[in-house]
Amino acid sequence: MTINVNPIADIIAPLPKQLLIDGKFVPSLSGKTFKTFNPATGEMLAEVSEGGAADIDLAVAAARRAFTGPWSRFTPFQRQQCLLRFADLVEKHFETLAHIDVLDMGAPITSMYARRQRALGLPRFYAGMCTVISGGTLPNSMPGEVFTYTLKEPVGVVGAITPWNAPLTSTIWKIGPVLATGCTMVLKPAEDAPLTALRLGELLLEAGVPEGVVNIVPGFGHIAGDALARHMDVDKVAFTGSDLTGRKIIEASKSNIKRVTLELGGKSPDIIFADCDMDAAVAGAGMGVFANTGQICCAGTRLLVQRPIYEEFVARVSDYAKSLKVGNGLDPATQIGPVVNAKQLDRVAGYMEIGLGEGVTAATGGKRITEGALKDGYFFEPTVLSGVTNDMRIAQEEIFGPVAAAIPFDTLEEAAAIANDTVFGLGGGVWTTNVSTAHRMAKAIRAGTVWVNTYGGLDPAVPFGGYKTSGYGRESGVEHLDAYLETKSVVMKL
Ligand code: NAD
Repeated sequence: MTINVNPIADIIAPLPKQLLIDGKFVPSLSGKTFKTFNPATGEMLAEVSEGGAADIDLAVAAARRAFTGPWSRFTPFQRQQCLLRFADLVEKHFETLAHIDVLDMGAPITSMYARRQRALGLPRFYAGMCTVISGGTLPNSMPGEVFTYTLKEPVGVVGAITPWNAPLTSTIWKIGPVLATGCTMVLKPAEDAPLTALRLGELLLEAGVPEGVVNIVPGFGHIAGDALARHMDVDKVAFTGSDLTGRKIIEASKSNIKRVTLELGGKSPDIIFADCDMDAAVAGAGMGVFANTGQICCAGTRLLVQRPIYEEFVARVSDYAKSLKVGNGLDPATQIGPVVNAKQLDRVAGYMEIGLGEGVTAATGGKRITEGALKDGYFFEPTVLSGVTNDMRIAQEEIFGPVAAAIPFDTLEEAAAIANDTVFGLGGGVWTTNVSTAHRMAKAIRAGTVWVNTYGGLDPAVPFGGYKTSGYGRESGVEHLDAYLETKSVVMKL
C-alpha cells in the first residue's frame, strides 16, 4: 500500500478547533483556548477552544434534547444507516484522520494503516448491532394469566472521556455503542490529542447524525472531565484512562448514581515458555510492548521468561528492540514514534532511575534521545530491563513507555503466580507450542484478554476489558451494548 505523507499545514489548518455543541462548532463560553503540540518536534500544532463546566452544561442539555427529541424517533434501521454512512466517511477520509493522530500524539503513520481495518470495522460492527438489540418473553409463575416480556431501552445521555494514546480508534469505540443503542453523548477527548475527535464530529454531522446526538467538548480533565462525570443530567460515564483518574470518576459519578464503565491501565504479563517458537515470540512479544511506544493499556510490559531460555531471549528481544527504527511518525520507515509529551518522557526516564536503583540492568536502551534530528521531540530508546523481580516498582507500576521488564521463572505454576501478582488484570500473553500449557495458562491468568502465540490484536466482536484495578465493564462484543441499555420488565395481566 502506498502511504502518502502530506504537509502538516494542509492537515491541521482546515480542522475544526472549537466545541461541537448541538450540531455547531462554537467557541467556549470563557473564550479560553489551549495548545496542542506535535510530540515529534515539540512544535505547536493548534489552539483549541477549552471547554469548562458551563460548556459541559450546554452540551449535556443539547444531548438531553436530542435524546428525548428527534433521535428517539429514529428507527434501529435509521441509526444503522447513520453508522454505515459514518463508516464510509471514515474510510474516505482515512488518510487525513491517520495523519491527525500521527501529528497530535506521535503514532507512526504505518501503524495507523495497520489499524485501518479496526477503524473501519468498529463503526460497521456497531451498525450491525443496531437491529439485533432485543428483549425477550419470560416465564412468570404469578397467579392468574400473565404475559411478561423485557424491553431494552437506551440508558440516556452518556459522558465519554477518552485518553490520548489512540484517538481515532478510541473515539470511534465510544461513539459506536452510543449510536447503536439510541443514546446521546458528550465526549471529552484528552487534552493532549483532541483534533481527531473534532474531525470525527464533522463527519458524524455529514453522515446525518442529528444535531445534539454527539457533542464534543475538548478541555482539561480536572475541569471539563470532572464536570461531565459529576453532572446530574448525565446517566452514564464511559471512561478510558488511568486507574488514578478512574477512582476520581467513581467518586464524581456518585452524584446521581451514574452507570459507570472503566477501561483502565495494566501491567500485563507476556509469558515465554522454553518450548515456544522463538522467532515468533521475539517479534510478537517485542511489538507487544514497544508498539505505540509502549503507550497501550494492554502492552505486555512484563516479559516472564522460562529460565532455560532467559539469557537467549533477553539478548534476542534486545537485538529486536535495537533494530526498531525510532523517528518522526510521518516518516513511513518509522516503527516507533515519540511519547506523547515532555511529562510522559520525564515519567519514563524517572522509572528508569527507579529501576536502576532497584538493581536492574538495561540490556538495551534506557535513555532519552537527545541528539540528532530527534532531539526536539519526546523520544525514548526502546528498552529491555533484565534482572527484574516482580516485587520491584518497575514490575508493578504502569510506565506507559517503551520499556520491557524481563523476569525469569521456572514452572508453569510459578509463571501463573507471578503473572497474577499485580493489582491489574487487563491482558496477558502466552508463547508455547504445548497446547496443554496454552490452555492451562489461558485459564490461570486473571485478566480480561489472554493472547496465545500472538499479542495485542483487538477485534470489534471480541469483548475487551479489565479484571481487578484494570476496570469494569467490557468494550466490543455484544456485552458492550448492555452497558448502554436498561432492561425494562413488562408484566401484564391478561
Ligand atoms: P488520564 O487518566 O490521565 O486521562 C484520561 C482522560 O481523563 C483524559 O481525557 C483526561 O482529561 C481525563 N481526566 C483527567 N482527570 C480527570 C478528572 N478528574 N475527571 C474526569 N476526567 C479526567 O489517562 P491518560 O494519561 O490520558 O491515558 C493513559 C492511561 O489510560 C493509561 O493508564 C492507560 O493504560 C489507560 N488506557 C486504558 C485503555 C483501556 O481500554 N483499558 C485504553 C487506553 C488507555
